[in-house]
Amino acid sequence: MSFRLSCPSCGPRDVNEFAYGGELAARPQERPDVRELGSYLYFRANVAGVQREWWFHRLGCELWFQAERDTRTNEVLRTDACVSETQAPLADGPVEPADAAIPPEPAV
Ligand SMILES: [Zn+2]
Repeated sequence: MSFRLSCPSCGPRDVNEFAYGGELAARPQERPDVRELGSYLYFRANVAGVQREWWFHRLGCELWFQAERDTRTNEVLRTDACVSETQAPLADGPVEPADAAIPPEPAV
């Protein structure tokens, strides 16, 4: 299965240039209990439809970014450079890799 994914820095590329980073999930609060942490680490919504995901351009600029993809059709609706959970997504269009944030380490 192959489709095209548009890196915010490099533009449209074959999906095989990218690594899937999983669906976007809200991070637990500063001191999560075991249930919250387990839920964050091991459970996913796994929707049949549009979901927001992390992708990494492993054979290109090595940018982490987010994409909205329909899991039923692999249609990619939009991609954005990484933004924190408190910021609104950036507008469509290319961004410089230095402008993108690197996701913080997991709170484990
Ligand atoms: Zn790229």
